[in-house]
Amino acid sequence: MPDTISKEKRCWNMSRIKDKDTTPELSVRSYLFINGFRFRKNVSSLPGRPDIVLPKYRTVIFINGCFWHHHEGCRYATVPKTRTDYWTAKFERNVSNDRKNKALLEDLGWHVITIWECCLKKEFSKTMESLVEKLNNWERTPYLSPNRANAS
Ligand code: ZN
Repeated sequence: MPDTISKEKRCWNMSRIKDKDTTPELSVRSYLFINGFRFRKNVSSLPGRPDIVLPKYRTVIFINGCFWHHHEGCRYATVPKTRTDYWTAKFERNVSNDRKNKALLEDLGWHVITIWECCLKKEFSKTMESLVEKLNNWERTPYLSPNRANAS
């Protein structure tokens, strides 16, 4: 279905400006769907309410905006020049929540993948291809959570 893919991409490119928060998620979801992956979205019963959950692969995916989640070393992770203290505290809270949720999820036996918006903007196909490759590898190898590995 090459038509569907290119149409999706075009839509995403055009609508990115007016709806920054949701369109990268949509493009990731439709890519996965077209490639045969089945998933649940915005699962609020899991820590951090992951954007995409692939139960078959024991994998959760977060699609993070570089600004809000303060992508380290990224040029989009700017701090506004007014109310700098407020923003700095907010970003620190977001980053520490992300870290906490990742640890909780790993304890529960999930693979945790974070996809940054800048990677999707710059190299959508490459980012998605490496994601699919990871998922396929994980399907073939049994998962040991850090907890279970310690217990045995
Ligand atoms: Zn970034």
